[in-house]
Amino acid sequence: MTALIDVLQAQIEQLDTQGLRRRRRTAEAACAPHTVVDGRRVLSFNSNDYLGLAADPRVTAALQEGARLYGAGSGASHLVSGHSKAHEELEERLADFLAPHLLQPRALYLSTGYMANLAVLTALAAATPGEAEIFSDALNHASIIDGTRLARAKVTVYAHNDVPALEAALAVSSAKTKIVVTDSVFSMDGDIAPLPQILALCERHGAWLLVDDAHGFGVLGEHGRGALEYFSLTSPQLVYMGTLGKAAGVSGAFVAAHATVIDWLVQRARPYIYTTAAAPALAHALLTSVALIDSREGQQRRAQLELLQHQLSGMPLHAGWKRLASATPIQPLVIGGNAEVLAAAQALLEQGLWVSAIRAPTVPAGTARLRITLSATHTHDDVARLLDALHTLAKES
Ligand SMILES: *Cc1c(COP(=O)(O)O)cnc(C)c1O
Repeated sequence: MTALIDVLQAQIEQLDTQGLRRRRRTAEAACAPHTVVDGRRVLSFNSNDYLGLAADPRVTAALQEGARLYGAGSGASHLVSGHSKAHEELEERLADFLAPHLLQPRALYLSTGYMANLAVLTALAAATPGEAEIFSDALNHASIIDGTRLARAKVTVYAHNDVPALEAALAVSSAKTKIVVTDSVFSMDGDIAPLPQILALCERHGAWLLVDDAHGFGVLGEHGRGALEYFSLTSPQLVYMGTLGKAAGVSGAFVAAHATVIDWLVQRARPYIYTTAAAPALAHALLTSVALIDSREGQQRRAQLELLQHQLSGMPLHAGWKRLASATPIQPLVIGGNAEVLAAAQALLEQGLWVSAIRAPTVPAGTARLRITLSATHTHDDVARLLDALHTLAKES
């Protein structure tokens, strides 16, 4: 081995001893509660496919139709020749869907939510070079953190959901462009940001509010319009980011905002401009996903999720465990140590239950947790099986 490889190997071994080494498991069937992983049939509480659309036959049929109509790939970036009719139709549909919450809305489809966060943060900050400040919640998603780093702006991190701290930071800022950015539903805790209070602050201080609704779009609100519908928010200062690989079951993300904001992103957002457009077939399939989210059936699926959440709230607790209060399908069980959480996940897997163990740096050290996520395609029996297994685990540990 060369010296360079030795350095990496030593680092990996260190992660191993700390219980922090990450390993992938290989799923051998479609994303669904009952699936096959590493050759074993399991009941999964792992995915962000909250409405069960990832393997829905209507969505997969639309994907096939999209491939027939538009081929497998887009062939180029959006500003060259890769922008297809399917992308355009999806953007129009999404802008209409979010219209009750935005002024002169338009939408932009991007390849991933990760890139969407980079795109918005870098492009908005670039409007006033050297004179932008980003205010970011301490528990924001890694893609937001990376976006703030790439934006070449001053970055102020405020304590999690701490509205007075955010207000104090906004009050002393003299930046020309102020951008407040927050997850709506925090991905590892499942709690919801106090968006009405945060938006009121943004309006008072002339700041943009970027809402990352990765876990809210499709799930929150009567029609599944997400966090903005959940709180009945409307503002020209809102920039909304929704992802399309979670509740929508496919892939990609979108930004919805005032038409001028979207036009600016097309001019300046490098993560949008300098990459090959996502396959048009994905956008075509997403038209079906959005129609399902916006349907009576979508409402029924959201109602089922709420029933399952309620059922899970009877989760048995070992003295050292902590169930985080969550009104979303993300239901974390904080166990604490890395070794303990790995042992718990392994014990569940031996009973055919697949729940992921989340450790630092994804969550703060000492708060390693089982991140249980529910899908509308889980049944009451599925959740009962999980509760039984947790009960046994709590008694034994
Ligand atoms: C998943 C996620 C993203 C990234 O979206 P992708 O489409 O998976 O790249 C961004 N923000 C939050 C809060 C997320 O949970």
